[in-house]
Amino acid sequence: MKIGIPKEIKNNESRVGMTPAGVFALTNKNHTVYVQATAGEGSGFFDKDYIDVGATILPTIEDVYAKSEMIVKVKEPIASEYPLITENQIVFTYFHFASSEPLTKAMIASKAICIAYETVEDFDGSLPLLTPMSEVAGRMSVQQGAKYLEKPVKGRGILLGGVPGVTPGKVLILGAGVVGVQAAKMAAGLGAHVTILDINMKRLRYVNDVLPSHVITGFSSEYVIRQHIKTHDLIIGGVLVKGGKAPKLITKDMLKEMRPGTVVVDVAVDQGGCFETTRATTHEDPTYIIDDVVHYCVANMPGAVPFTSTMALTNVTLTYILKIANLGWEKACKNDESLAKGLNIVKGEIVYKELEGIFN
Ligand code: NAD
Repeated sequence: MKIGIPKEIKNNESRVGMTPAGVFALTNKNHTVYVQATAGEGSGFFDKDYIDVGATILPTIEDVYAKSEMIVKVKEPIASEYPLITENQIVFTYFHFASSEPLTKAMIASKAICIAYETVEDFDGSLPLLTPMSEVAGRMSVQQGAKYLEKPVKGRGILLGGVPGVTPGKVLILGAGVVGVQAAKMAAGLGAHVTILDINMKRLRYVNDVLPSHVITGFSSEYVIRQHIKTHDLIIGGVLVKGGKAPKLITKDMLKEMRPGTVVVDVAVDQGGCFETTRATTHEDPTYIIDDVVHYCVANMPGAVPFTSTMALTNVTLTYILKIANLGWEKACKNDESLAKGLNIVKGEIVYKELEGIFN
């Protein structure tokens, strides 16, 4: 199969869809891999590294799309890429359709085969291609939150870990999934007081088992959230309803109950966000303030640490890419139920149940 790796063009996105190690695995099986010139540089991989493992470097994004049967990338295509995607072309990437009507309509119109990383699902319900990016974003959410709690950037002026003789900061985490647990681990490591809420008792039991005893678990409800937001310094949103929009757990009126300088990090922004006041921001301009509450809502957090993220992503996508390349998408999806769950839009039809009717 002819596989294309275009350079990511979304703001501040330096990840790339495949490492040279991934390309090596494909060329070794006699597949052809086209890599756009300088596509890997932001992640520390140079054109020569790709050439050495058998890739062909193409000068423009148009060339890569035009020559490839399958496009492997990181972020959802942006408007300038829509016309490059052709009928029956396989596009394997993060799409997050639920948060973008224009993207959904453009991909329906393209008649391409859109396989979304974020809905590939294992038998136990876990999302193997979302996991590594959630791990990165969860860990980063505490790093970013701690930074924006500083006074010069309008935070409360709190050092999360405190110091001897001074109470540490308080972190509230909504959702005890991958993002939530990684955030809790980092916050607890800094010495912060951590509360983590979920509606899934299995997840809360897991957190209780594996994290230190100063990480407190709670059953999530509007009442409980309203109680906690009054006293917590950093609030991290990491909830997910698979393939659907995130529930709005923090409404605009609740901001008034928070103390000035409270920081909210909405990691779930890529699924519409779990704060009513969330709007997507970029690494260039990551925060905005509403009612004295600092909002950090960057939709591609792992893009800021591309060296780590690109490796983590290829570690999990490569098995599926090889399957699709070796068997074709139809046979690969027939043989692998997990991969089949990644099919979102096929030749102009929405095939992922949670997406049906979402933009009618
Ligand atoms: P996950 O499925 O592992 O965890 C989500 C958790 O939310 C589950 O435990 C679920 O029970 C819980 N939940 C659902 N509804 C809830 C509610 N009403 N109250 C409390 N908890 C609730 O998902 P994840 O991998 O941790 O991802 C979380 C979000 O982060 C997703 O939207 C994902 O797309 C997003 N994400 C964003 C970035 C970014 O750069 N901004 C990066 C990676 C992941």
